[in-house]
Amino acid sequence: MVFATVAIMWLTGHTSLRISLAELQTRAEANLAVQSAVLERLLDKFRLLSPLLARGRDSGRFLSVEDLASQPSVASVAAGMSGAEEIWLMDAEGKVLLSSRDGVPTGMIGGREAISIAFEQARQGQLGRQLVPGSPEGPANYVFASPLRRDGAPAGVLAVRVSLADVEQAWALSKDPIVALDSRGHIVVTNIPAWRGRFLDQVNRGRNIADLPLSGRLQVLLPGTAPDAQNYFMQLTQELPVLGWDVHTLVDIGDARQRAGRAMLLALLVCVIGAGCIWLLVARREAHAHQDRRNRASALRLERRVRSRTAELRKANVLLEQEVREREQAEANLRLTQAELVQAAKLATLGRMSAALSHEYNQPLAAIRSDAEVAGMLIERGRANEAQANLTRIGGMVGRMAEIAKTLKGFTRKSGTDIKPVSLRQVIDEAMLLLQPQIKQSQVSLDLELPDEDIIVKGGRIRLEQVIINLLANAIDAAAAKPLPHVRLTLRRDDNEAVLSVRDNGPGIDAEVMPQIFDPFFTTKDVGAGLGLGLSIAYKIVHDFSGSLKAENAAEGGAEFTMRLPVEGTRMQAAE
Ligand code: ADP
Repeated sequence: MVFATVAIMWLTGHTSLRISLAELQTRAEANLAVQSAVLERLLDKFRLLSPLLARGRDSGRFLSVEDLASQPSVASVAAGMSGAEEIWLMDAEGKVLLSSRDGVPTGMIGGREAISIAFEQARQGQLGRQLVPGSPEGPANYVFASPLRRDGAPAGVLAVRVSLADVEQAWALSKDPIVALDSRGHIVVTNIPAWRGRFLDQVNRGRNIADLPLSGRLQVLLPGTAPDAQNYFMQLTQELPVLGWDVHTLVDIGDARQRAGRAMLLALLVCVIGAGCIWLLVARREAHAHQDRRNRASALRLERRVRSRTAELRKANVLLEQEVREREQAEANLRLTQAELVQAAKLATLGRMSAALSHEYNQPLAAIRSDAEVAGMLIERGRANEAQANLTRIGGMVGRMAEIAKTLKGFTRKSGTDIKPVSLRQVIDEAMLLLQPQIKQSQVSLDLELPDEDIIVKGGRIRLEQVIINLLANAIDAAAAKPLPHVRLTLRRDDNEAVLSVRDNGPGIDAEVMPQIFDPFFTTKDVGAGLGLGLSIAYKIVHDFSGSLKAENAAEGGAEFTMRLPVEGTRMQAAE
């Protein structure tokens, strides 16, 4: 951009300068042609005047002193009419006989010394020409001289002096310096009076203007200015071949240079603005690209994270699935173990009941045997009618034994895991049937307080039977130690809950034992008397059926276990 800016500035400045210089040159050339023509025409005009006057009919006559005295104003008339500065009449020796100025021979400026070259040329019969150099005070003069003849022989010289002041006045209208140099480099005519008579090298620091290129930029030190105050000029030259002079004009190109400078500044400004716009565009595009790159990078990062998270999740999922499988397996194992535990607890209960049960069987068996013997004897004696009563009793006892056996069979069967509506009354009846022998043996009085209406709960029949058997068996065990052992089973409905409580008048539960009684294998009974599984199994079963089981000591002594189960309509479940 910097290079481009510099190039554009240079090009703009250069072009502007070239155009300005071309304009200046055209104008200056026209001016130079006009001003040169002014000088040339003036000298042309007077070039003819002296020969004309010299060839006149009376010109030889003026050479006699008498005639001069009688015609003193001839020269002044001729001078006045032609516009010449002065006209002289000289004899063959160069003595001025007559001057148009004062009519009196002076021998001064018009003297032979001053115009000796022109005089000599005229004496030899040519048209004599000589420049009388000017000074800062006065302009230069040009002298034309022609021979005067008397009777065909040279007798004197007639000279015409032309002042170049008119030319200088015409040139003064031009604002550019114009100088006419003679063949030696002297400034002959100029529109700057101070330069008159100088060599141009005085003007231009020792360099002759003729050495400089005709057009182009020059550093010119103008006379009278400080050495470092140099101005730039364009120099144009026109030759005046007849005179052997050159006319130069120096055109100040400072303005053009300033204009070029301004154009360069303007170009710089435009370049800076353009560069600013480009920079802005580039910066904006860069920012967009940067933002794009950042977005892409963050998208990539996000994708990578999502991928790694997905992989992690997949791994976690696999682990979770494995864990779920293991859990399920563990749960299945647990359920199996629990079922086995329940079965073990049930068998333990049975073991404890077995004595009472065998007693229960032995009694009717003995009665059946005696009744059968009696019936046999009666039939032997022909009293078959009487034997009938014994046989009927035997049938009743067998039926009861069969019922106990059936219930026992059902109880010992492995309970399922289904949850169905169960009649609590049926559950209590069957539990009572199984416990009857034990109750009888321990001589505990058992009260049942049952509602008129059956209560249906959700659960498993055999598991609930097991709960009730456990609670009652514990209560019987506890109350047995007392003189008047007593156990009460109450069933009632409390809103949507079935509340079953078993209360005894035993010693109650010690405070330090209370927190542990539902723990598995916790027992205070002797080895072999209890496994410590009854309550923990009962607690588990009740909670499986969304119920609760809690133990407390009654205010009047003894322990009370309360089971609460949500009531399930009136639908009945046939069998588990
Ligand atoms: P086990 O009867 O085999 O000991 P349980 O789990 O049925 O096991 O009972 C745990 C303990 O709870 C019993 O050892 C006993 O100390 C206490 N317990 C249970 N029921 C009663 C009760 N009705 N009165 C006093 N203590 C009881």
